[in-house]
Amino acid sequence: MSSLETLNIQNTYTALPESFFRRVMPEPLHDPKLVSLNEPLALQLGLNPETLDRQALAELGAGQWILEGMEPLAMKYTGHQFGAYNPDLGDGRGLLLCETLDRDGRRWDWHLKGAGRTPWSRFGDGRAVLRSTIREYLCSEAMNGLGIPTTRGLFIVSASDPVYREGQETAATLMRLARSHLRFGHFEYAFYHQGEEAVRTLADYTIQTCFPDLQDHPSAEDRYEALLTRILTRTGQLIAHWQAIGFAHGVMNTDNMSVIGDTFDYGPFAFLDDFQAGFISNHSDHNGRYAFNQQPLIGFWNSQCLARAFTAILPEDNIRRALSQYETAYNTAFLGNMRRKLGVTTEQEDDLSLVMDLFRLLHEHRVDYTLFFRRLSHFGNPDAAPIRDLFVNREACEDWLTRYRKRLETEGSLTDTGRYDRMLATNPKYILRNYLAQQAIEQAQQGDYSEVNRLLAVLRQPYDEQPDYERYAKEPPDWGRKLSISCSS
Ligand code: AMP
Ligand code: MG
Repeated sequence: MSSLETLNIQNTYTALPESFFRRVMPEPLHDPKLVSLNEPLALQLGLNPETLDRQALAELGAGQWILEGMEPLAMKYTGHQFGAYNPDLGDGRGLLLCETLDRDGRRWDWHLKGAGRTPWSRFGDGRAVLRSTIREYLCSEAMNGLGIPTTRGLFIVSASDPVYREGQETAATLMRLARSHLRFGHFEYAFYHQGEEAVRTLADYTIQTCFPDLQDHPSAEDRYEALLTRILTRTGQLIAHWQAIGFAHGVMNTDNMSVIGDTFDYGPFAFLDDFQAGFISNHSDHNGRYAFNQQPLIGFWNSQCLARAFTAILPEDNIRRALSQYETAYNTAFLGNMRRKLGVTTEQEDDLSLVMDLFRLLHEHRVDYTLFFRRLSHFGNPDAAPIRDLFVNREACEDWLTRYRKRLETEGSLTDTGRYDRMLATNPKYILRNYLAQQAIEQAQQGDYSEVNRLLAVLRQPYDEQPDYERYAKEPPDWGRKLSISCSS
């Protein structure tokens, strides 16, 4: 079992009504080169990276051929973009090629991003560029290493075809894998354009492919409420992960929200360097709709969009009950995540204020978020000097550290040496800082893919000390703080 031909291919999506998709073949790109192959993921899929024909893979990524059994299609969906409803969306530059079952019998969608034009390309060229493809690939593997639900990248291919964005760029494709490519926008499309029956069909399909355990609910009403609740709970938990790790998605439009609860559609995202509560990662987001500290609220706004679509198949009371679960899930997960980051094992009433006061402190003093928590993981071992060093005024954190020390003492965690390991396993050393991605991209644009692959390996083990790669764990240089990332990808 090793080669592409042995993959267990399915195309369950084509069983949906034809209004949900259009069959489209990839438009071939030229002179493809395999930039990177995600070997651990390939193994999980049942492929053997040692014997895999890399040229064939590159040509597959370039759309020059497809595997027998693949039925490429563009998905139709709509969605709310920056608050406004857009009925014209759909896969504009990516195709669902097929689904496969992996070594553990789990389903994966294969989606080729950058495969060419589709009926929903609007004014776009159907392409993706090397720059944004590398960003998505690196970040999704970084997220996976951090333990945060995400789509994955199986491989990247670059091609000689020119693509025009702000200037001429290199065409590339990403073979994106995900447990599901269903978005909130799929339900909005069904609700606003196809009617009740389509919403029901889509809900049934989602249960069948994503949450088969929900089939056990005997009544349809229970099933659909459980489905909505499941999606909103996962969404709340996902955003609680983002807030705890310091990740700004950048474009939380409802067409970029996955029903399975994955981090989905990486565009102008960023991990925080220094902590700025209102950080805007998307250069085109002038009003800060998707600013870092807005994400939990936007998650709820998006949840309401999804819930609206469910009004076709669920009474209002059930919808309200499901919606309330978003906030519960978010709050519970967020506080749980932050308690783990602080290394505390009990729940105390003041914990949220301890966290919020810390955020205020980090914000006021522009302290690097990741470094702070990594150094806090050694608190008391032997002293707090490395933490103080992160503040220009070294005394600024004294009051908070005193409170923190007391908090640890109340539960015996101050002297519990197991706390260091627990905290180091939850406060990463390595994140994908924008400037690191930028360096890998610039080298790849010169044809040298080694930095992409080096960074990939480091980011897969974000909690481990990797002495050879200390340089990746540092604060960004000045030029690296000012990178502007736009939607244009
Ligand atoms: P995004 O901002 O990447 O989430 O894309 C929003 C919508 O625009 C989706 O429907 C995409 O398929 C579509 N789109 C983005 N870039 C392109 C492109 N270069 N060509 C065609 N469609 C695109
Ligand atoms: Mg999108």
